[in-house]
Amino acid sequence: MARYRSAVCRLCRREGAKLFLKGDRCFKPSCPIEKRGTQPPGQHGNSMRRGKALQGYGLQLREKQKVKRIYFVLEGQFRNYFERAARMKGITGENLLSLLERRLDNAVYRAGFATSRRQARQLVNHGHVEVNGRKVDIPSFQVKAGDTVTIKEASRKNAHVEGAWQTAGGRGRPNWIVPADGAEMSARVVTLPVRDDVDRSINEQLIVELYSK
Ligand code: SF4
Repeated sequence: MARYRSAVCRLCRREGAKLFLKGDRCFKPSCPIEKRGTQPPGQHGNSMRRGKALQGYGLQLREKQKVKRIYFVLEGQFRNYFERAARMKGITGENLLSLLERRLDNAVYRAGFATSRRQARQLVNHGHVEVNGRKVDIPSFQVKAGDTVTIKEASRKNAHVEGAWQTAGGRGRPNWIVPADGAEMSARVVTLPVRDDVDRSINEQLIVELYSK
């Protein structure tokens, strides 16, 4: 799968919002958004690109790009999530966010086993994660209510995992996935994620409008 390899903080500055792509640094004053505000990247970022407020298609496109970057998924995958969300009962935008939130890599991040979704994806890809006691190394795997997500016993001493687990409270824990047993590095999906569990700054309706043209 293609991957974005450039400085990730540029993505936050491009979207004018904190996307929490860099782990612990995102929660410290050294975050470039905290230090410099939301000035777009590049030599002329401040003077040119934010001169005019975005509207219509531009605004919808930026919102879609922002959510893709938060969840670290590519265009084709994102479009598939949207089409699946549109076929589900309920509100398409909320369904879309719920499907993204239920990805295993996101669940690992939200449970507190990693400080960023990128780090969480690595843990999944490298076989450190189990769902209901079985290894699952597919980041897009969808967790469901009742599932237990656990770090493999042999991986629990990993310094990154231990550090992330100890600082998870500071990053904020959602209601839908909660620690099952701290000593075992295990978290339980108690319910499916709903709109209130997802970043309030996302305007999912703009994405629905973009794909409905
Ligand atoms: Fe974004 Fe985190 Fe970089 Fe801040 S530190 S700009 S939130 S990736």
